[in-house]
Amino acid sequence: MRIIIVGGGIGGLALATGLRRQEFDVQVFDRDLDVANTGGYHITLDGRAQAALRELVAPEIFERLLASASALRLRPPDALWDRHGRLLGYGPHLGDSPSVDIDRITLRTVLADAVGADLHLGRTVTEIGRATDSAPMAVFADGPPVRCDLLVGADGTHSVVARQLAGGPTSEPTGIIGFSGRTAADSIGAPERQRLGARSGMAVGPRATALYVGFLDPVGNAVLDVPGRREAITTGPTYIWGAMFPESAVSDSMRGLHGDALRTALLAAFRRRGWGERSLEVIARADPDSIAAFRFNAASTRSHDLAPWPAGPVTALGDAVHATPPTAGMGAGAAIRDAAGLVTQLRTVADGTTTLAVAVSRFEADMRLRGSEVLHQAMKTVRWIQLTDTGLGAAATGAVIPVLAAANRLGRRR
Ligand SMILES: Cc1cc2nc3c(=O)[nH]c(=O)nc-3n(C[C@H](O)[C@H](O)[C@H](O)COP(=O)(O)OP(=O)(O)OC[C@H]3O[C@@H](n4cnc5c(N)ncnc54)[C@H](O)[C@@H]3O)c2cc1C
Repeated sequence: MRIIIVGGGIGGLALATGLRRQEFDVQVFDRDLDVANTGGYHITLDGRAQAALRELVAPEIFERLLASASALRLRPPDALWDRHGRLLGYGPHLGDSPSVDIDRITLRTVLADAVGADLHLGRTVTEIGRATDSAPMAVFADGPPVRCDLLVGADGTHSVVARQLAGGPTSEPTGIIGFSGRTAADSIGAPERQRLGARSGMAVGPRATALYVGFLDPVGNAVLDVPGRREAITTGPTYIWGAMFPESAVSDSMRGLHGDALRTALLAAFRRRGWGERSLEVIARADPDSIAAFRFNAASTRSHDLAPWPAGPVTALGDAVHATPPTAGMGAGAAIRDAAGLVTQLRTVADGTTTLAVAVSRFEADMRLRGSEVLHQAMKTVRWIQLTDTGLGAAATGAVIPVLAAANRLGRRR
């Protein structure tokens, strides 16, 4: 069986690795020219995502990934702050957490290495065609079409494949724009570094503004302390942050900016909304080249809305089907779990126990449930942020947050 994967992101590469290990004939096509050119934020992989990865990749690849990851269990609980940096409370203890954080660049480059020559870069797919025998064909912006028995769209949020299957877009904007960046911990002044600590946290303000500050340290908090296997691009304690704003003409215009200009505009946008300088130091000290803007898109949370097409020799997975905002840190994990689910089903076709149509149908049924679950999680935070952008929500946030901050200060004095 010849399989084509459109998209060599996290889900597509995980799938290709798993299929190669099962000796399927697989080719991956991605429009990017360089797999390392993929956004510098980090990805959280929970226990289920790691179990799926362990199934898909060779033990040596899994070890390289764990040796490059940072363990959540070694981190103090996450903090919740107000927009002036005052502590509102802490999240649950992470001591039992199986989750790990890994740079997206490291995860993608290690997976690409595992796929090897079956990954073809600089190849943009424009549509899915049909050969004379009705087998699927990937049609490229340049170069002849390639025929296959199964075509999988792992081409992310604005998927060409899923859009063609569904007859329209599979996700829509949530109304929130995100900006992400990286800041080396040692570039921040001592008082602010002490306030942030070696933990992740979220600062919230009224009118749908929020700043997530993630702490990543694959060396100090190594999951697997095997320095010779470490490939993390993060080599020292680093804050990887994500700022959130409601979509507006101003936030939209910021999407066209880069580097220093984007950082300056971002700081100005926070200041206009009354954010204190202390909370903003992590942005002010960021590596300007690391700052990027992106729109939060989301698919429906209802499982029956996902993959709304009859099962056949063209399918899709990951964000192409269940585009998930980063607010739950589960989108990449779900794409990897989709990949493991599809490999399991295709093995039953290879051993003659079932047909391709039945295998794809079973895979899609599981994926709908998985996608709906992660979307519910991610949309909880999105809806909460959206609520602060209503008159009532802004007033309530303005009233409740100072009370929480004061209660927390009193509690700590006792
Ligand atoms: C700031 C941020 C933080 C995040 N944090 C987390 C986290 O902590 N944990 C987590 O699990 N998830 C996280 N996510 C979500 C996660 O990145 C995505 O859910 C995940 O990458 C989806 O994987 P995918 O393979 O479906 O798509 P992608 O990884 O987006 O890959 C799609 C690929 O398809 C290629 N492509 C697109 N169109 C074409 C075409 N026409 N032809 C050829 N190639 C094409 C693209 O170049 C890309 O490489 C985060 C996302 C963001 C934006």
